[in-house]
Amino acid sequence: MTRALIRPEKCGECQPCEVQRQCAMKAVFREDPNEQPWVDFYRCSGCLKCKAFCPNDAIEAIRHPCDGRARMGW
Ligand code: SF4
Ligand code: SF4
Repeated sequence: MTRALIRPEKCGECQPCEVQRQCAMKAVFREDPNEQPWVDFYRCSGCLKCKAFCPNDAIEAIRHPCDGRARMGW
């Protein structure tokens, strides 16, 4: 099962986040406009189309979402 993870160290905190804007599953959330966006793994389909939307190459495809490396939504 593949999901998209936004790598916090790579995310440039764009305004707006194109990954959030263009995700067809509405799987990307940002509670506060000044915070980094994050992917809800329950909503994410793993299509990885967002890789093309992110100018900072912050999207990583992961197969084991609960590895504890970043903010998790699983
Ligand atoms: S487009 Fe990429 S770098 Fe910019 S805020 Fe979204 S995830 Fe972060
Ligand atoms: S992999 Fe697809 S569903 Fe998941 S965040 Fe990226 S664009 Fe949205």
